[in-house]
Amino acid sequence: MPELFLLLDKQGDRAVILVSACLLGNNCKYNGGNNYTKEIAKLERDIILPVCPEELGGLLTPRLPAQFDRADGEALLDGRCKVWDTNGNDVTHNFLSGAVKALAMAQRRGVHTAILKERSPSCGVSSVYITERGTAPVVGMGVTAALLKKNGIKVLSDEKLQQWLPLIERDL
Ligand code: SF4
Repeated sequence: MPELFLLLDKQGDRAVILVSACLLGNNCKYNGGNNYTKEIAKLERDIILPVCPEELGGLLTPRLPAQFDRADGEALLDGRCKVWDTNGNDVTHNFLSGAVKALAMAQRRGVHTAILKERSPSCGVSSVYITERGTAPVVGMGVTAALLKKNGIKVLSDEKLQQWLPLIERDL
């Protein structure tokens, strides 16, 4: 049987999909812009939960860009690395707090699937920037993506749109 992306929630209603808010056009990106993606924005609004973990974690927009020091979001959840902004401020607690709040919102709404912005230290699904590994993105997850995945939520990259969008549209 083909894998279902959009499962029913406990009440038998269609489950909500958590989406990185910047992909829907919200100006919550660190520089005050967004990552609007029309194929994602056209999904029905009543099944979308827009979330920006960095704003949830108390960071302002615009804000300084930030990245991991020596490992990714999965390692951060185990206390093995931190996130720093470009002024050298430790913003790990903001990233963790945002991830915990995003997970709580997802769980309250019965979310099974999240569509997230690649390479973000919060939302990256398969690649992020890690200072000790140079200036190019490397394999790894953002903090929120890692926490959602750890709690059984399927995380999909905005850069794999062609793979999963037809499956989501089929299940709507
Ligand atoms: S934290 Fe996620 S939702 Fe917020 S701007 Fe960054 S990528 Fe977009």
